[in-house]
Amino acid sequence: MAKCKRCGIKTILSEADIEKMVSEIRSMKGIRLADADEYRQRLEICRSCEKFEYGSTCSLCGCVMQVRALLRDGRCPYPHRPKW
Ligand code: SF4
Repeated sequence: MAKCKRCGIKTILSEADIEKMVSEIRSMKGIRLADADEYRQRLEICRSCEKFEYGSTCSLCGCVMQVRALLRDGRCPYPHRPKW
């Protein structure tokens, strides 16, 4: 199984893998989360972006976008003109 060179997790995540990561973030205390509309909009933008790979990952930062987009202070790393 291919693994991410940066973090060591699987390159291709199942829906269950992603849901588990999202649940863990949601259950953490002190994490500020994006509201539901903002989260949905961010993921829509990512899903139409040429840097989005494997249905989960931004090829610029290597983050799982279902997680990064959930963070209120998360930012798109697209150079010079972040998409969200
Ligand atoms: S975070 Fe930005 S650059 Fe990365 S996939 Fe989403 S829209 Fe594209």
